[in-house]
Amino acid sequence: MSELVVTAASARQLRERLGNLAEGEPFGFDTEASGPLLPSGKMINVHRSELTGMSFAFSDGYACYVPVAHAWGNLAYSEVRAVLEALGDTRGRCVVHGLKHEDHMSRRGSYALPAHVMCTLLLSWIQDRGGGGKKPHGLKSLARAHLGEEPQDFEHVSRGRQWRDVDPADALQYATDDAKNTLRLFQHLGDVPADHPLYATELPFARLLANMERRGVRFHTSEAFELSATLATRRQQTMEEWWWTFPDVSPSSGQQLQRLFGGPWGTAGVPRTKTGLYSTSAATMGLLSTHPDSTEEGRRGARLRLEYQEANTLLSTYLAPISIFASLHADGRIRPEALQHGTRTGRISMTSPTLMNIPVRTEMGRQVMSLFMAAHGCKLVAGDFSQVELAILAHYAGPGRLMTALLEGRDMHDFLGAQVGINRAGAKTLQYAHIYGSGPRKLAAVLHSDVDIARRAFDAYRRLFPEVPRAVQRAIQAVRDRGYARTLGGKVRHLPDIDSSDWRLRGAAERIAVNTPIQGASGYITKLAMLRAEAAGVPCILQVHDSIVAEVPAREAEDARVALQEAMRGAMMLRVPLRVEAKTGDTLVDVK
Ligand SMILES: [Mg+2]
Repeated sequence: MSELVVTAASARQLRERLGNLAEGEPFGFDTEASGPLLPSGKMINVHRSELTGMSFAFSDGYACYVPVAHAWGNLAYSEVRAVLEALGDTRGRCVVHGLKHEDHMSRRGSYALPAHVMCTLLLSWIQDRGGGGKKPHGLKSLARAHLGEEPQDFEHVSRGRQWRDVDPADALQYATDDAKNTLRLFQHLGDVPADHPLYATELPFARLLANMERRGVRFHTSEAFELSATLATRRQQTMEEWWWTFPDVSPSSGQQLQRLFGGPWGTAGVPRTKTGLYSTSAATMGLLSTHPDSTEEGRRGARLRLEYQEANTLLSTYLAPISIFASLHADGRIRPEALQHGTRTGRISMTSPTLMNIPVRTEMGRQVMSLFMAAHGCKLVAGDFSQVELAILAHYAGPGRLMTALLEGRDMHDFLGAQVGINRAGAKTLQYAHIYGSGPRKLAAVLHSDVDIARRAFDAYRRLFPEVPRAVQRAIQAVRDRGYARTLGGKVRHLPDIDSSDWRLRGAAERIAVNTPIQGASGYITKLAMLRAEAAGVPCILQVHDSIVAEVPAREAEDARVALQEAMRGAMMLRVPLRVEAKTGDTLVDVK
């Protein structure tokens, strides 16, 4: 049965239920909020939202909704506080869907979640049990996939209104369905063992991310306007130069570009897109702009198109949206959302606005990065793992030359280049080829050589580090034996195609089988490092480009730098030590 809790008597019964729960006995809990929407869509800006109501579901089937700030009859404020106190004190296990969000809501409503919490979103994600659709680990999608429910969409119930204006009957039904489905999902998915990294790492990490999002990062808005104007001019100039130089070639037509660039497309190992045309990505343009087989015209065209693409991407993907997001908060800080379940390997991603893959190697990209800065009187402190994926590869590969070279602290790219007889850029590609599953064609493109030379380099690599291909085979065999890949952080990824008779599907699954444990370990190590940094009093504000970024008062910057470095180095004991470089500075560019 479901009821609206609006009287003192029903509130007392709810408090008694919470008080009577046995140690660790699960109950479902969910909150509803009202507030301004984010510019990117239908999501509420959680940092400015207000708690509108909360729903509970218990294992005997009882569920209820407590209206807190509706336009119609709420439970009296003092009664609401008493219920929230009973929630914080219960010995039962509070099962929520989206712990990071509930952490935000508890701050907005000034209450504490109980000691025992579980998050079905993280539970589904870590076990790779998602339903289909755009949000495979969303509550509705999981309820459809696992519980045979057809839950109503939020939009269907709210019909464009704020939650506080939704009718009592609809609010009761919708909110209690969420709490009930959350509890049932936990019962359906099943608990993980107490020593699973979900408990030690992921659940605490959700709270860490909430703190990080609340802090946000200062963004130099007025300078961003100037830089936008400069980039827009640059984009315009590149286009004009293009039309003067190539009046008959449209820069957006793959076919026409192909004629312009001619020769090297076929030989340089340029990948083709699904439509069969050669890729016109920035990577391809970079390759063609310096390729010896390119014509003078082709090189110039590639350079122009590269410049245009860069100015355009920086403007439309980064500067414009970030500036809008910076205007949402009176302190001018942006508060991007950090998605703990954002990737299938276990790395986190930052969205709304997106901060993924801001180019850092070009002058224009660095100017964008320099807009992220420390608050007055503060410094940024950032730590970077160097070659963490190689260290993880060596850890899995075990004793051999790779491990020895890393233990000796060699520059791995120079070392490999000298051993195999290729340049540094080629050595870097070859170094990571086994992790990312790339082959001789990619290497040939980087070396500007034919594929035979690249093949010989691969052979030389295998003779030098025979432990690596053996580790690759072990990883694939492990997935074949049990059907899924598993990271050090306990994150599972099912790979049914590992036995497919279609070699393309099988090949893709094999690459993921090798890649997942390495990328997953890297993401897991980053999370452990951030938890250690916070415990050492270093408050994280961003995680971008494999860097952990914190912000501290200027006079504490050097201590914080050392503390962050130690937190990262000691995050996990691998067979080779983790190498970390940490810097302090005023902007993100200074600490890169
Ligand atoms: Mg809900």
